[in-house]
Amino acid sequence: MTLESGSSPTARIAVDVGGTTVKGAAFSEDGSVIAHGTVATFAADRDALGSVRAVVARLASHIEARGVRATGIGVASPGLVDAVRGSVVYAANLGWTDLDLVPALVDDFGLPVRLEHDARAGAIAERAAHIDEAGVYREFIFVPIGTGVAAAVVTSGALVHGATGGAGEFGHMPVGPGRELCGCGQRGCIEAYASASSVLRRYRAQGGTGATTTPELVRSLADDPVAASVWNDLIDALAVGLSSLSAVLDPARIVIGGGLSRAGAPLIEPLRAAIDARLGWRPTPLLVQSALGSHSGLIGAGLLADDRPVTSRFAVTAASALSSLRLLAPAESPVPRPVDSHHQ
Ligand SMILES: [Zn+2]
Repeated sequence: MTLESGSSPTARIAVDVGGTTVKGAAFSEDGSVIAHGTVATFAADRDALGSVRAVVARLASHIEARGVRATGIGVASPGLVDAVRGSVVYAANLGWTDLDLVPALVDDFGLPVRLEHDARAGAIAERAAHIDEAGVYREFIFVPIGTGVAAAVVTSGALVHGATGGAGEFGHMPVGPGRELCGCGQRGCIEAYASASSVLRRYRAQGGTGATTTPELVRSLADDPVAASVWNDLIDALAVGLSSLSAVLDPARIVIGGGLSRAGAPLIEPLRAAIDARLGWRPTPLLVQSALGSHSGLIGAGLLADDRPVTSRFAVTAASALSSLRLLAPAESPVPRPVDSHHQ
């Protein structure tokens, strides 16, 4: 977009809240990154909300010093998110229950604030990255896979939030091939097999020793039978869930994102074949790897921060800029050892 003559340059402040880090960036209207910063979610003496405030304050003061005016704040959060009320109903990893996040940040910073579930923010970014294929992205499912597994569903062009904001808990569909215990307390959840932390935990539990990160595990698939076995279980769990969603929703496309999507062909190709086999005579959606990697939530928060239109290249420019910033390197690479009380 072009700025009116005489107006100061503007930026949108984006925050992606995770269980390990709170990532922030200030984007210009073309998607370039003016400022960025990451803090540990639970840095010394800080709760998660304090960390969000600290990131926003740091970005705001940085851009202000450069004569850039912030026009809004977008926040992507995990958990049960009520985007209309602007509150996080429940986010176990953050210690948040009925947190009125939007009113709190409006009070602090005097800017418009928008909140969305991180997977849905990611779907907004994926759609923006494919503005030339708007028709396809009216019916699609975005599945970010990192330390957790979620899904954002877009149908008839609209994001599905559900009655309580709880839509998209794909990772906790109990479809696994066995009775693996999930962090949520259920057994057989997709996330118990298919998250980056679960696949490494299962690898170790079954005697695997060679790989300590998911990229290492993927590289050893041809030579390490334990790696191959837990990877097959991951593919199976995702395929059961995604073929079920496809049978119900008939999406044009399924986009696999998050840190694990960087596995590329060893993830996408067997998953595509497994979904196709399970769907039989029904139409198989095209399965693709996200172009935005693990940055989709942050980019989506940037898109949410301000209603004004952005350039068609916003999401792609932002992803490219973020990938070159070491400070924003995804926390799951290498994958940290999961906090795990029931597997010693
Ligand atoms: Zn679960």
